[in-house]
Amino acid sequence: MEERIITCIVCPMGCRLNVEAENDKIGNISGNRCSRGKTYAAEECTAPKRMLTTTVRVSGGIHPFLPVKTERAIPKGLIRQCMEEIRSVQVSAPVKAGDIIVKNICGTGVDIIATRSIPCQN
Ligand code: SF4
Repeated sequence: MEERIITCIVCPMGCRLNVEAENDKIGNISGNRCSRGKTYAAEECTAPKRMLTTTVRVSGGIHPFLPVKTERAIPKGLIRQCMEEIRSVQVSAPVKAGDIIVKNICGTGVDIIATRSIPCQN
């Protein structure tokens, strides 16, 4: 089996994980200080996911852009496709933090939500 070294990003400890992997098969995992690291390492080697944070355009608001993020991690391989869909989105003020901006982005079952409120300009 091939040995991969990855950094666990589940918490700020950032443990350095040694993972034995071959295709989708995971062998021994070491270097983790807790079980969450083991779960993360296995997922990272077989089906990596990432949170997506970006902005969308806002019309009529006190700021021209609204920061948004996925409500949870999405498959890493779909990030580019999701960015293309988000790029075409424009919302109108007012927007409240937590509002759903795009439902079920690219069929992932994950929504894009606003991470701050933007009131109207006037
Ligand atoms: S293995 Fe556990 S302690 Fe280490 S970074 Fe991951 S979550 Fe944090």
